[in-house]
Amino acid sequence: MHYHVLTLFPDMITQTMSHSITGRAQQKELLHLQVTDIRDFSQNKYHKVDDYPYGGGAGMVMEPEPVFLAYEYVCQQVEQEGRKKPKVLFMTPQGKTLTQNMVETYAKEEDLVFLCGHYEGIDERVLESIVDENVSIGDYVLTGGELPALVMMDAISRFVPGVLHNDVSAITDTFTGSLLEYPQYTRPVQWREKEVPPVLLSGHHQKIDQWRRQHSLLRTFTQRPDLFEKVEFTKADCKWMRTQPVFPVDLVNTIEQKLKKPKE
Ligand code: SAM
Repeated sequence: MHYHVLTLFPDMITQTMSHSITGRAQQKELLHLQVTDIRDFSQNKYHKVDDYPYGGGAGMVMEPEPVFLAYEYVCQQVEQEGRKKPKVLFMTPQGKTLTQNMVETYAKEEDLVFLCGHYEGIDERVLESIVDENVSIGDYVLTGGELPALVMMDAISRFVPGVLHNDVSAITDTFTGSLLEYPQYTRPVQWREKEVPPVLLSGHHQKIDQWRRQHSLLRTFTQRPDLFEKVEFTKADCKWMRTQPVFPVDLVNTIEQKLKKPKE
């Protein structure tokens, strides 16, 4: 995976990406990070890259030309290395909110360009010219696109083969298949009067899988009922849910009815 970040604050990106799993993945050349400082493409002797908004209003707006030149520079590099034109993602609170499905889809790309805005944003004309998709990391406004780009690269990297020590983690994690992950425990077995659930110490893999599935169902139902509706249930799930007072009988009946219906 080749990440390209267009930013006014390159250190924020390189420093954060150099740690832990993303740092090791770069050393192993599973991830390649190219950070381009938009200020290097300033047309101005003071290296200024922003200006007042036409029509008035608060704050400054990033000028189109330095952003466009930085983008062209990245495209030339990618072309020279023999790869196709990269997808450009603009980090913006106005974009589509990032989900795990989007993360998995982006992980299939060979190159991704993350365009980070700052101040009041970027001149609309350059966005119209180069951006493929607008992406937000949530309904709140940050001071810049660097943290969203880092969030995205971190999440995407987990799906790049070889990046995680154990590739299974990425597919059993929360949100994969609409279920939240089951509770996790490590040593010691007894910690301040609290014990690890005995089934996890039993070595009985089938029972452990069953316990984990049941606790994922329970967690999703209590913490994210919106996701629970999308779960692909099994007959065994229904049988177990009937023994748990937390699941309303009507709900389990409806799920069972759906399971009986042949799929269209
Ligand atoms: N004036 C812009 C608006 O109302 O849409 C917000 C500008 S914000 C202060 C500066 C930059 O931070 C944006 O251009 C964008 O790159 C980034 N940003 C802020 N919040 C974000 C979010 N939730 N997701 C992705 N990027 C965000």
